[in-house]
Amino acid sequence: MQNLTINPQRLWDSLMDTAKIGGTEKGGICRLTLTDLDRQVRDWFRSQCEALGCTVAVDQVGNMFATRPGKRSDLSPIAIGSHLDTQPTGGKFDGVLGVLGGLEVMRTMHDLGYETNAPLMLVNWTNEEGSRFAPAMLGSGVYAGVFDRAFADSREDRQGVKFGDAIESIGYRGDAAPGSVKFGAMFELHIEQGPILEAEKKMVGVVTGVQGMRWYELELTGREAHTGSTPMNLRTNALLGAARIIDRVDQIALEHSPSAVGTVGLVEVKPNSRNVIPGHVFFTVDFRHPDDAVLEAMEGKLMSAIPAIAKEIGLEFSVKKVWDSPAVRFDPECISAVRKGTEKAGFLSRDMVSGAGHDAAYIARVAPTTMIFVPCEGGLSHNEAESTTPEECAAGAQVLLNAVLEYDQRFSQ
Ligand SMILES: [Zn+2]
Repeated sequence: MQNLTINPQRLWDSLMDTAKIGGTEKGGICRLTLTDLDRQVRDWFRSQCEALGCTVAVDQVGNMFATRPGKRSDLSPIAIGSHLDTQPTGGKFDGVLGVLGGLEVMRTMHDLGYETNAPLMLVNWTNEEGSRFAPAMLGSGVYAGVFDRAFADSREDRQGVKFGDAIESIGYRGDAAPGSVKFGAMFELHIEQGPILEAEKKMVGVVTGVQGMRWYELELTGREAHTGSTPMNLRTNALLGAARIIDRVDQIALEHSPSAVGTVGLVEVKPNSRNVIPGHVFFTVDFRHPDDAVLEAMEGKLMSAIPAIAKEIGLEFSVKKVWDSPAVRFDPECISAVRKGTEKAGFLSRDMVSGAGHDAAYIARVAPTTMIFVPCEGGLSHNEAESTTPEECAAGAQVLLNAVLEYDQRFSQ
Protein backbone atom coordinates (compact mmCIF):
# COMPACT_ATOMS: atom_id res chain seq x y z
CA MET A 1 0.00 0.00 0.00
CA GLN A 2 1.46 3.34 -1.09
CA ASN A 3 2.06 6.13 1.44
CA LEU A 4 0.09 9.21 0.49
CA THR A 5 0.39 12.47 2.40
CA ILE A 6 -2.23 15.19 2.32
CA ASN A 7 -1.28 18.84 1.83
CA PRO A 8 -2.09 20.62 5.15
CA GLN A 9 -1.72 24.14 3.75
CA ARG A 10 -4.03 23.48 0.81
CA LEU A 11 -6.65 22.05 3.19
CA TRP A 12 -6.37 25.05 5.50
CA ASP A 13 -6.58 27.52 2.60
CA SER A 14 -9.76 25.83 1.37
CA LEU A 15 -11.26 25.97 4.85
CA MET A 16 -10.46 29.67 5.17
CA ASP A 17 -11.53 30.55 1.61
CA THR A 18 -14.93 28.90 1.84
CA ALA A 19 -15.42 30.36 5.34
CA LYS A 20 -15.83 33.71 3.56
CA ILE A 21 -19.08 32.42 2.02
CA GLY A 22 -21.40 33.48 4.84
CA GLY A 23 -18.49 34.61 7.04
CA THR A 24 -19.51 36.55 10.16
CA GLU A 25 -17.77 39.44 11.91
CA LYS A 26 -16.94 37.22 14.88
CA GLY A 27 -15.08 34.75 12.66
CA GLY A 28 -17.81 32.16 12.24
CA ILE A 29 -20.08 31.20 9.37
CA CYS A 30 -23.81 31.76 8.88
CA ARG A 31 -24.62 29.57 5.89
CA LEU A 32 -28.08 28.17 6.35
CA THR A 33 -29.12 25.29 4.16
CA LEU A 34 -30.64 26.03 0.71
CA THR A 35 -29.95 29.78 0.87
CA ASP A 36 -28.06 31.65 -1.83
CA LEU A 37 -24.90 31.31 0.31
CA ASP A 38 -25.42 27.55 0.36
CA ARG A 39 -25.75 27.69 -3.44
CA GLN A 40 -22.43 29.55 -3.67
CA VAL A 41 -20.53 27.01 -1.61
CA ARG A 42 -22.23 24.15 -3.52
CA ASP A 43 -21.17 25.73 -6.84
CA TRP A 44 -17.61 26.03 -5.51
CA PHE A 45 -17.65 22.41 -4.31
CA ARG A 46 -18.93 21.18 -7.66
CA SER A 47 -16.28 23.10 -9.63
CA GLN A 48 -13.46 21.85 -7.39
CA CYS A 49 -14.60 18.24 -7.78
CA GLU A 50 -15.00 18.60 -11.55
CA ALA A 51 -11.48 20.04 -11.75
CA LEU A 52 -10.29 16.67 -10.39
CA GLY A 53 -12.14 14.84 -13.13
CA CYS A 54 -14.99 13.75 -10.85
CA THR A 55 -18.57 13.55 -12.04
CA VAL A 56 -20.99 15.30 -9.68
CA ALA A 57 -24.52 13.98 -9.24
CA VAL A 58 -27.28 15.59 -7.18
CA ASP A 59 -30.25 13.72 -5.79
CA GLN A 60 -33.83 14.96 -5.37
CA VAL A 61 -33.16 16.39 -1.91
CA GLY A 62 -29.96 18.17 -2.97
CA ASN A 63 -27.40 15.72 -1.60
CA MET A 64 -24.28 16.04 -3.77
CA PHE A 65 -22.13 13.05 -4.80
CA ALA A 66 -18.77 13.53 -6.54
CA THR A 67 -17.41 10.27 -7.92
CA ARG A 68 -13.77 9.48 -8.63
CA PRO A 69 -13.58 6.19 -10.52
CA GLY A 70 -11.57 3.28 -9.12
CA LYS A 71 -9.89 0.37 -10.89
CA ARG A 72 -13.04 -1.69 -10.53
CA SER A 73 -16.38 -0.30 -11.65
CA ASP A 74 -18.22 -3.35 -10.30
CA LEU A 75 -17.66 -2.22 -6.70
CA SER A 76 -19.87 0.11 -4.69
CA PRO A 77 -18.08 3.36 -3.89
CA ILE A 78 -16.37 4.16 -0.60
CA ALA A 79 -18.03 7.39 0.50
CA ILE A 80 -16.45 10.21 2.50
CA GLY A 81 -18.06 13.50 3.44
CA SER A 82 -20.20 15.54 5.78
CA HIS A 83 -22.12 18.82 5.39
CA LEU A 84 -21.43 22.38 4.20
CA ASP A 85 -24.46 24.02 5.87
CA THR A 86 -23.98 25.72 9.24
CA GLN A 87 -25.91 27.03 12.23
CA PRO A 88 -26.85 30.75 12.16
CA THR A 89 -23.92 31.38 14.50
CA GLY A 90 -21.90 28.41 13.30
CA GLY A 91 -18.16 27.89 13.31
CA LYS A 92 -15.77 27.22 10.45
CA PHE A 93 -15.28 23.49 11.05
CA ASP A 94 -18.52 21.70 12.01
CA GLY A 95 -19.34 19.65 8.92
CA VAL A 96 -17.10 21.69 6.63
CA LEU A 97 -13.97 19.85 7.78
CA GLY A 98 -15.50 16.52 6.77
CA VAL A 99 -16.28 17.72 3.24
CA LEU A 100 -13.08 19.69 2.64
CA GLY A 101 -10.98 17.01 4.35
CA GLY A 102 -12.56 14.60 1.87
CA LEU A 103 -11.78 16.99 -0.98
CA GLU A 104 -8.15 17.09 0.19
CA VAL A 105 -8.10 13.26 0.09
CA MET A 106 -9.35 13.38 -3.52
CA ARG A 107 -6.84 16.09 -4.46
CA THR A 108 -3.95 14.12 -2.95
CA MET A 109 -4.88 11.03 -4.95
CA HIS A 110 -5.36 13.15 -8.07
CA ASP A 111 -1.88 14.74 -7.74
CA LEU A 112 -0.23 11.33 -7.67
CA GLY A 113 -2.55 9.66 -10.12
CA TYR A 114 -3.38 7.14 -7.40
CA GLU A 115 -6.19 4.72 -8.20
CA THR A 116 -8.23 3.08 -5.50
CA ASN A 117 -9.80 -0.30 -6.21
CA ALA A 118 -13.33 0.84 -5.38
CA PRO A 119 -14.63 4.18 -6.68
CA LEU A 120 -14.39 7.01 -4.16
CA MET A 121 -17.41 9.25 -3.57
CA LEU A 122 -17.30 12.62 -1.83
CA VAL A 123 -20.67 13.63 -0.36
CA ASN A 124 -22.18 16.93 0.77
CA TRP A 125 -25.37 16.17 2.72
CA THR A 126 -28.27 18.66 2.62
CA ASN A 127 -29.60 20.26 5.81
CA GLU A 128 -27.58 18.43 8.43
CA GLU A 129 -28.01 21.25 10.94
CA GLY A 130 -31.80 21.34 10.98
CA SER A 131 -31.69 24.95 12.01
CA ARG A 132 -33.61 26.36 9.03
CA PHE A 133 -35.70 23.23 8.37
CA ALA A 134 -36.33 20.76 11.21
CA PRO A 135 -35.47 17.97 11.70
CA ALA A 136 -31.69 17.79 11.52
CA MET A 137 -29.87 15.31 9.23
CA LEU A 138 -32.70 15.54 6.73
CA GLY A 139 -30.72 14.82 3.54
CA SER A 140 -28.93 11.79 4.94
CA GLY A 141 -32.18 10.69 6.59
CA VAL A 142 -33.97 10.65 3.22
CA TYR A 143 -30.99 8.85 1.68
CA ALA A 144 -31.19 6.17 4.38
CA GLY A 145 -34.98 5.82 4.11
CA VAL A 146 -35.67 7.28 7.57
CA PHE A 147 -37.80 10.04 5.97
CA ASP A 148 -39.41 10.15 2.54
CA ARG A 149 -38.92 12.87 -0.04
CA ALA A 150 -42.45 14.28 0.40
CA PHE A 151 -41.80 14.74 4.11
CA ALA A 152 -38.57 16.60 3.35
CA ASP A 153 -40.24 18.82 0.73
CA SER A 154 -43.00 19.78 3.15
CA ARG A 155 -40.69 21.09 5.89
CA GLU A 156 -41.14 24.84 6.40
CA ASP A 157 -38.77 27.48 7.71
CA ARG A 158 -39.96 30.29 10.00
CA GLN A 159 -40.84 32.48 7.02
CA GLY A 160 -43.12 29.75 5.69
CA VAL A 161 -40.77 28.77 2.82
CA LYS A 162 -40.95 25.07 2.08
CA PHE A 163 -37.81 22.93 1.75
CA GLY A 164 -39.03 21.77 -1.69
CA ASP A 165 -39.36 25.36 -2.95
CA ALA A 166 -36.04 26.43 -1.43
CA ILE A 167 -34.22 23.60 -3.19
CA GLU A 168 -35.77 24.56 -6.54
CA SER A 169 -34.91 28.22 -6.05
CA ILE A 170 -31.18 27.54 -5.67
CA GLY A 171 -31.21 25.05 -8.56
CA TYR A 172 -30.14 22.01 -6.57
CA ARG A 173 -33.06 19.65 -7.16
CA GLY A 174 -31.28 16.75 -8.86
CA ASP A 175 -32.67 13.76 -10.73
CA ALA A 176 -31.30 10.87 -8.72
CA ALA A 177 -33.72 9.09 -6.38
CA PRO A 178 -32.30 9.42 -2.85
CA GLY A 179 -30.54 6.24 -1.80
CA SER A 180 -30.25 4.92 -5.36
CA VAL A 181 -26.46 5.02 -5.21
CA LYS A 182 -25.45 2.42 -2.61
CA PHE A 183 -22.22 2.89 -0.67
CA GLY A 184 -19.74 0.11 0.03
CA ALA A 185 -18.83 2.06 3.18
CA MET A 186 -18.79 5.61 4.52
CA PHE A 187 -16.25 7.50 6.63
CA GLU A 188 -17.18 10.89 8.13
CA LEU A 189 -14.49 13.18 9.54
CA HIS A 190 -15.87 15.68 12.07
CA ILE A 191 -14.76 17.86 14.97
CA GLU A 192 -15.53 16.29 18.34
CA GLN A 193 -17.83 19.11 19.57
CA GLY A 194 -16.88 18.06 23.10
CA PRO A 195 -13.89 18.51 25.44
CA ILE A 196 -12.50 14.97 25.84
CA LEU A 197 -9.75 14.80 23.17
CA GLU A 198 -8.36 18.18 24.13
CA ALA A 199 -8.38 17.33 27.85
CA GLU A 200 -6.57 14.03 27.24
CA LYS A 201 -4.21 15.53 24.64
CA LYS A 202 -5.28 12.99 22.02
CA MET A 203 -5.29 13.94 18.35
CA VAL A 204 -7.88 11.46 17.07
CA GLY A 205 -11.15 10.03 18.31
CA VAL A 206 -11.89 6.56 16.91
CA VAL A 207 -15.68 6.75 16.99
CA THR A 208 -17.37 3.45 17.79
CA GLY A 209 -20.96 4.66 17.76
CA VAL A 210 -23.51 7.31 18.61
CA GLN A 211 -25.22 7.15 21.95
CA GLY A 212 -28.92 6.43 22.26
CA MET A 213 -31.18 9.15 23.58
CA ARG A 214 -34.61 9.19 25.19
CA TRP A 215 -36.67 12.23 26.14
CA TYR A 216 -39.62 12.25 28.54
CA GLU A 217 -42.13 14.88 29.61
CA LEU A 218 -43.63 14.68 33.08
CA GLU A 219 -46.48 16.48 34.79
CA LEU A 220 -47.22 16.37 38.49
CA THR A 221 -50.42 17.78 39.93
CA GLY A 222 -51.03 18.51 43.61
CA ARG A 223 -53.04 21.28 45.26
CA GLU A 224 -52.26 24.96 45.50
CA ALA A 225 -52.62 26.28 49.04
CA HIS A 226 -51.45 29.04 51.38
CA THR A 227 -47.88 28.49 52.57
CA GLY A 228 -48.54 30.07 55.97
CA SER A 229 -51.76 28.38 56.99
CA THR A 230 -51.39 24.87 55.50
CA PRO A 231 -49.66 22.44 57.89
CA MET A 232 -46.90 20.29 56.46
CA ASN A 233 -48.86 17.05 56.82
CA LEU A 234 -51.80 18.41 54.79
CA ARG A 235 -49.89 19.51 51.67
CA THR A 236 -49.70 18.00 48.21
CA ASN A 237 -46.69 19.87 46.87
CA ALA A 238 -46.04 19.10 43.20
CA LEU A 239 -42.61 20.73 43.27
CA LEU A 240 -41.52 18.50 46.16
CA GLY A 241 -42.41 15.49 43.99
CA ALA A 242 -40.46 16.98 41.07
CA ALA A 243 -37.46 17.58 43.34
CA ARG A 244 -37.44 13.94 44.43
CA ILE A 245 -37.75 12.71 40.85
CA ILE A 246 -34.97 15.07 39.71
CA ASP A 247 -32.73 13.63 42.41
CA ARG A 248 -33.68 10.11 41.29
CA VAL A 249 -32.82 10.95 37.65
CA ASP A 250 -29.35 11.96 38.80
CA GLN A 251 -28.95 8.76 40.85
CA ILE A 252 -30.11 6.58 37.97
CA ALA A 253 -27.46 8.08 35.68
CA LEU A 254 -24.80 7.61 38.37
CA GLU A 255 -25.87 3.98 38.86
CA HIS A 256 -24.87 3.43 35.22
CA SER A 257 -21.67 5.50 35.26
CA PRO A 258 -19.46 6.40 33.56
CA SER A 259 -21.32 6.33 30.24
CA ALA A 260 -24.85 7.25 31.31
CA VAL A 261 -26.06 10.83 31.55
CA GLY A 262 -29.39 12.00 32.92
CA THR A 263 -30.64 15.57 32.97
CA VAL A 264 -33.69 17.58 33.95
CA GLY A 265 -33.08 20.81 32.04
CA LEU A 266 -36.52 22.37 31.91
CA VAL A 267 -38.93 22.89 34.81
CA GLU A 268 -42.13 24.95 34.84
CA VAL A 269 -43.73 25.52 38.21
CA LYS A 270 -47.27 26.82 38.69
CA PRO A 271 -48.23 29.23 40.00
CA ASN A 272 -44.57 30.05 40.80
CA SER A 273 -45.40 32.34 43.67
CA ARG A 274 -43.40 32.49 46.90
CA ASN A 275 -46.35 32.07 49.21
CA VAL A 276 -48.33 29.44 47.28
CA ILE A 277 -47.62 25.71 47.58
CA PRO A 278 -46.87 24.63 43.98
CA GLY A 279 -49.89 22.84 42.56
CA HIS A 280 -48.50 21.88 39.16
CA VAL A 281 -45.07 21.12 37.70
CA PHE A 282 -44.06 20.28 34.13
CA PHE A 283 -40.51 19.04 33.55
CA THR A 284 -38.37 17.11 31.10
CA VAL A 285 -35.97 14.21 31.46
CA ASP A 286 -33.12 13.50 29.01
CA PHE A 287 -31.38 10.10 29.31
CA ARG A 288 -28.43 9.08 27.10
CA HIS A 289 -26.25 5.99 26.91
CA PRO A 290 -24.34 4.14 24.14
CA ASP A 291 -26.28 0.92 24.82
CA ASP A 292 -30.06 0.66 24.32
CA ALA A 293 -30.30 -2.14 26.92
CA VAL A 294 -28.91 0.20 29.56
CA LEU A 295 -31.29 2.95 28.46
CA GLU A 296 -34.10 0.45 28.85
CA ALA A 297 -32.97 -0.32 32.40
CA MET A 298 -32.72 3.41 33.19
CA GLU A 299 -36.21 3.95 31.82
CA GLY A 300 -37.52 1.07 33.96
CA LYS A 301 -36.07 2.66 37.11
CA LEU A 302 -37.58 6.04 36.24
CA MET A 303 -40.99 4.53 35.52
CA SER A 304 -41.07 2.75 38.87
CA ALA A 305 -39.80 5.79 40.80
CA ILE A 306 -42.43 8.20 39.47
CA PRO A 307 -45.58 6.48 40.86
CA ALA A 308 -43.84 5.66 44.14
CA ILE A 309 -42.79 9.28 44.69
CA ALA A 310 -46.18 10.61 43.56
CA LYS A 311 -47.96 8.26 45.95
CA GLU A 312 -45.84 9.31 48.98
CA ILE A 313 -46.94 12.90 48.49
CA GLY A 314 -50.43 12.26 47.10
CA LEU A 315 -49.80 13.68 43.62
CA GLU A 316 -51.35 12.82 40.30
CA PHE A 317 -48.85 12.29 37.53
CA SER A 318 -48.52 11.76 33.80
CA VAL A 319 -45.42 10.77 31.87
CA LYS A 320 -44.84 10.68 28.11
CA LYS A 321 -41.86 9.42 26.15
CA VAL A 322 -41.50 12.08 23.43
CA TRP A 323 -38.33 10.92 21.66
CA ASP A 324 -36.47 7.65 21.35
CA SER A 325 -33.33 7.69 19.24
CA PRO A 326 -31.64 4.28 19.31
CA ALA A 327 -27.93 3.90 19.90
CA VAL A 328 -25.79 3.40 16.80
CA ARG A 329 -22.89 0.97 16.68
CA PHE A 330 -20.50 1.67 13.85
CA ASP A 331 -19.09 -1.07 11.64
CA PRO A 332 -16.16 -2.99 13.23
CA GLU A 333 -14.20 -3.19 9.97
CA CYS A 334 -14.57 0.52 9.28
CA ILE A 335 -13.51 1.24 12.88
CA SER A 336 -10.52 -1.04 12.43
CA ALA A 337 -9.52 0.83 9.26
CA VAL A 338 -9.60 4.12 11.18
CA ARG A 339 -7.59 2.62 14.02
CA LYS A 340 -4.91 1.31 11.63
CA GLY A 341 -4.91 4.59 9.73
CA THR A 342 -4.37 6.50 12.98
CA GLU A 343 -1.52 4.26 14.07
CA LYS A 344 0.13 4.56 10.68
CA ALA A 345 0.02 8.35 10.96
CA GLY A 346 1.47 8.10 14.50
CA PHE A 347 -1.28 9.99 16.34
CA LEU A 348 -2.46 9.34 19.89
CA SER A 349 -6.09 8.33 19.88
CA ARG A 350 -8.89 7.04 22.05
CA ASP A 351 -12.13 5.24 21.32
CA MET A 352 -15.20 7.34 21.87
CA VAL A 353 -18.95 7.42 21.39
CA SER A 354 -20.47 10.50 19.79
CA GLY A 355 -22.72 12.49 22.06
CA ALA A 356 -24.23 14.41 19.14
CA GLY A 357 -26.15 13.24 16.07
CA HIS A 358 -24.43 13.13 12.67
CA ASP A 359 -25.24 12.13 9.09
CA ALA A 360 -23.17 9.00 9.71
CA ALA A 361 -25.72 7.85 12.30
CA TYR A 362 -28.36 7.48 9.56
CA ILE A 363 -25.97 6.15 6.91
CA ALA A 364 -24.96 3.41 9.38
CA ARG A 365 -28.46 1.96 8.87
CA VAL A 366 -27.74 1.23 5.19
CA ALA A 367 -23.96 0.89 4.82
CA PRO A 368 -20.88 0.01 6.91
CA THR A 369 -20.02 3.38 8.44
CA THR A 370 -17.83 5.09 11.00
CA MET A 371 -16.51 8.50 12.00
CA ILE A 372 -13.19 10.14 12.85
CA PHE A 373 -13.08 12.95 15.44
CA VAL A 374 -10.43 15.63 15.91
CA PRO A 375 -10.33 18.07 18.86
CA CYS A 376 -11.93 21.49 18.98
CA GLU A 377 -10.80 24.15 21.43
CA GLY A 378 -12.63 23.99 24.75
CA GLY A 379 -15.10 21.53 23.21
CA LEU A 380 -16.90 24.57 21.81
CA SER A 381 -19.17 24.10 18.77
CA HIS A 382 -22.32 25.62 17.29
CA ASN A 383 -20.52 28.84 18.13
CA GLU A 384 -18.69 31.39 15.96
CA ALA A 385 -15.61 30.95 18.16
CA GLU A 386 -15.39 27.23 17.28
CA SER A 387 -11.69 26.54 16.72
CA THR A 388 -9.60 23.65 15.44
CA THR A 389 -5.92 24.15 14.58
CA PRO A 390 -4.39 23.63 11.12
CA GLU A 391 -2.48 20.65 12.58
CA GLU A 392 -5.67 19.06 13.92
CA CYS A 393 -7.49 19.56 10.61
CA ALA A 394 -4.55 18.04 8.75
CA ALA A 395 -4.42 15.09 11.16
CA GLY A 396 -8.09 14.37 10.55
CA ALA A 397 -7.71 14.48 6.78
CA GLN A 398 -4.61 12.26 6.89
CA VAL A 399 -6.39 9.66 9.03
CA LEU A 400 -9.38 9.84 6.67
CA LEU A 401 -7.08 9.17 3.72
CA ASN A 402 -5.29 6.34 5.54
CA ALA A 403 -8.58 4.76 6.60
CA VAL A 404 -9.95 4.82 3.05
CA LEU A 405 -6.76 3.24 1.67
CA GLU A 406 -6.83 0.65 4.43
CA TYR A 407 -10.46 -0.25 3.77
CA ASP A 408 -9.85 -0.33 0.01
CA GLN A 409 -7.14 -3.01 0.44
CA ARG A 410 -9.82 -5.69 0.75
CA PHE A 411 -10.63 -5.24 -2.91
CA SER A 412 -7.13 -5.76 -4.29
CA GLN A 413 -6.81 -8.93 -6.32
ZN1 LIG B 1 -21.87 18.67 11.93
